Amino acid sequence: MTDDTRNINADLHCHSRYSDGRLEPAELVRRARDNGVDLLAITDHDELGGLDEAIAAAAELDLPFVPGVEVSVTWGGETIHIVGLLVDHRHPELVAGLEQTRAGRDLRAREMGRSLAAAGIPDTYDGALRHVGNPALVSRTHFARHLVERGVCRQVSDVFRRYLVEGKPGYVAHSWARLADAVGWIRAAGGVAVLAHPGRYPLGAVARRALFEEFRSAGGGALEVLSASHDAGQSRELGRAAIDLGLMASRGSDFHAPGESRIDLGDLPNLPAELTPVWQDWPEARAAAERRALSLPASGGKP
Ligand code: AMP
Ligand code: MN
Ligand code: MN
Ligand code: MN
Repeated sequence: MTDDTRNINADLHCHSRYSDGRLEPAELVRRARDNGVDLLAITDHDELGGLDEAIAAAAELDLPFVPGVEVSVTWGGETIHIVGLLVDHRHPELVAGLEQTRAGRDLRAREMGRSLAAAGIPDTYDGALRHVGNPALVSRTHFARHLVERGVCRQVSDVFRRYLVEGKPGYVAHSWARLADAVGWIRAAGGVAVLAHPGRYPLGAVARRALFEEFRSAGGGALEVLSASHDAGQSRELGRAAIDLGLMASRGSDFHAPGESRIDLGDLPNLPAELTPVWQDWPEARAAAERRALSLPASGGKP
């Protein structure tokens, strides 16, 4: 079937300068199109500000697009990320919830700066701010880029390992939104909640299962099975968990920046056939499948 939505190249997780990505929303849209992405969502951390620009850019390039967001949550003492897809990005409940979630970021960043200064690296708060695209959204990534620029570490991932994770000198614990609240805001805005990169959380089997079940009870709709954070074994295991729990499956590169992100936009395997794509019934996915069928040669193209 030429209009089957299953094997479209859907990339439903990435970041612009409105959070900790490096590209403007319109640049992300163009890069996605150039990489062969059929359906794109931009999911900035706790922020919807880039979506109007993205929607306009996607319309101009005729690229099917869904508005998204990635909400920071604290669950069982861990930071968990919940992606919201196909949200009404003007919905007051979602807008207010995210505003509240962002509110503590600046104080946390100042504290990170003090903590790094105490460890012998001064002036990192101001340095991180120079990398920020959106002053309301200063993140650990901006500190990491600043420390790379200063030559403290060679790459962003080294800064995280040495300074920005629990137990390291620049780490400052923070309390984000509650899981049920984040899922509730996304659903209130008409969206579907996706548990982002579940393979990344340092949870044992029992806690992981409890997280999945609580997420589902709260109204969560899908697990992000395919992500740059997962190896093939983790993706298989998460696929099984999704089936087991009756959840749909999502696919997202979590792209942040050229040369920094391991996986580029659209550069992931297809979802295994036994999983239900979270985009299955979206009109945007149908449009993507139709557009893709038109652009492929009659004999078929890449799978
Ligand atoms: P924040 O919301 O300020 O705590 O920053 C979280 C962001 O840091 C994530 O969305 C990732 O983009 C980035 N990040 C977290 N851990 C790592 C890591 N180990 N290596 C590179 N980037 C990371
Ligand atoms: Mn990020
Ligand atoms: Mn994340
Ligand atoms: Mn992300």
